Amino acid sequence: MTEIAVVGSANLDLVVEVDTIPLVGETVLGEDLRRIPGGKGANQAVAAARLGRDVAMIGRLGDDEGGAMLRSALEGDAVDTRHLLTTADVPNGVALISVGADGDNAIVVSPGANGRVAPADIEAASAIIDTAAVTLLQLEVPLDAVAAAAAIASGTVILNPAPAPSEPLPMSLLADVDVLVPNQTELATIAGHNGPVDRVIAAELATRLPSSSVIVTLGAEGALVVLDGEATHVPAPVVRPVDTTAAGDSFCGALADGLVRGLDLVEATRWAVRVGAATTQRPGAQPSLPTPDEVGLLIGD
Ligand code: ADP
Repeated sequence: MTEIAVVGSANLDLVVEVDTIPLVGETVLGEDLRRIPGGKGANQAVAAARLGRDVAMIGRLGDDEGGAMLRSALEGDAVDTRHLLTTADVPNGVALISVGADGDNAIVVSPGANGRVAPADIEAASAIIDTAAVTLLQLEVPLDAVAAAAAIASGTVILNPAPAPSEPLPMSLLADVDVLVPNQTELATIAGHNGPVDRVIAAELATRLPSSSVIVTLGAEGALVVLDGEATHVPAPVVRPVDTTAAGDSFCGALADGLVRGLDLVEATRWAVRVGAATTQRPGAQPSLPTPDEVGLLIGD
């Protein structure tokens, strides 16, 4: 029985480590190319599966080597891929990632097959989405498909609005979302705020949105849970990041895991900040996602 339905993207990450991420017009030499399974949807599906949840992924893969690699990676983590369709004559989604020596990254995504996910695909998987305890959504597949999934789901709907949308999100979608999980940049975009977002501003902006609750991820500072106008800060463990790729995705996967296991929102967030911090301790997207036993070891407690 599916506990978590993930509707989202699967990308082949092409990763090069560099001393410094290039500026506009600059060329830098980096290390050998690595090809790693990624994409926000697939990462979140694998994150939750590695934590022990029963996960199904709904989306589209390309009709190429990247698509085949992504499918076998998901199946290797026991994710149900029956509703992950292979799209004829379309390349798989690809992310071009530079990782700097400080662990930060810069990313260009070519959506490929992810851009072909349609409301009809969501309808075809409605039996799974309707019965899952949690449905996990991001914004790397078309918005009409995301909105269709949020409307069908009868469990808890989590939307990680990443990458930050270029246009305001429809209020009808936000109203269908139980837990919105933006980072600070995404929150500013969604709430139409210019300028930096500290914890006080984040709480104010979150309260204005129609989603039932909002969890703002704050990188090294952890996360802010905003529920019924009240904000609770959950600090992150102190770590020295090796590579922050997929930290936000593992946070979302762990949050879903915690909610399926019956934790309340703040308890689930305490778990998610630990899993997010653990994910910064190893390079790559899916290879860095921890099992429950690895979380404490990676963050040193
Ligand atoms: P995103 O990667 O989506 O921008 P964040 O940077 O807010 O998201 O990170 C998501 C979560 O990953 C944080 O809430 C935290 O738990 C963990 N995390 C990320 N960076 C660090 C860090 N430098 N130290 C500790 N935890 C981190």
